[in-house]
Amino acid sequence: MINPSDWAHLAAAPHDAIPLAVWLWLKLDPMGRGPFDVDWIAHDLYPPETPDWEAAKDEVLGHVLALMDAGFLSTYKADGREWLLLLHPLRVDMRGVTIRTPEPESPWTSVAMGRGGARERARERVRAENGARAAAWDAVQAGREETPERPTRPLRMDAPPRYCSKHMPHGPGQKKCGPCRDTRLDQDEWLESRVYEQKLADYYEQTDDWEGRADGPGDEPW
Ligand SMILES: [Zn+2]
Repeated sequence: MINPSDWAHLAAAPHDAIPLAVWLWLKLDPMGRGPFDVDWIAHDLYPPETPDWEAAKDEVLGHVLALMDAGFLSTYKADGREWLLLLHPLRVDMRGVTIRTPEPESPWTSVAMGRGGARERARERVRAENGARAAAWDAVQAGREETPERPTRPLRMDAPPRYCSKHMPHGPGQKKCGPCRDTRLDQDEWLESRVYEQKLADYYEQTDDWEGRADGPGDEPW
């Protein structure tokens, strides 16, 4: 049972960390000890339909650290792992209670070290997770970005002149000019054959049909 005097121990704790403090009071053993397992806490404390468990675990970790700073909670190392330790566990009737959590190996030093260790591990974890999230996001963005298509050079820029040398580049105007006509016919033919070539190239690219291609692999004339 939580007594009014117990709340005084949470005076320095931030408001949003209070639910975790109450959870710890009720869920840790009568000695105020339990595994430092953020996953376990998050899944017990948050509703099952929680959309983002990684965010929930980050929040739990943040609140654990806030409660450490508020002098409510500490950690210690025993049996090769880290344990939570309430600095103000609720007063409970200990008769007939078996304590299964390990004793702190050396309360004063390991509590201090545990606290530093937890903070460092929390920082590392958040860093690693942020890094992984950023990398995953980059990958998603990279997949989404469309490769810009290189503009094709207008065929006419490479085509032979449209008019005879005498009337380049503006043409003969209203007058009819035989060489201009011939030049224009040459250009039309050139353009037509280039357009046809391009269409063929597109076709081969799409169908992967190399057989009709004179310059296919292994067909080099030299
Ligand atoms: Zn001309």
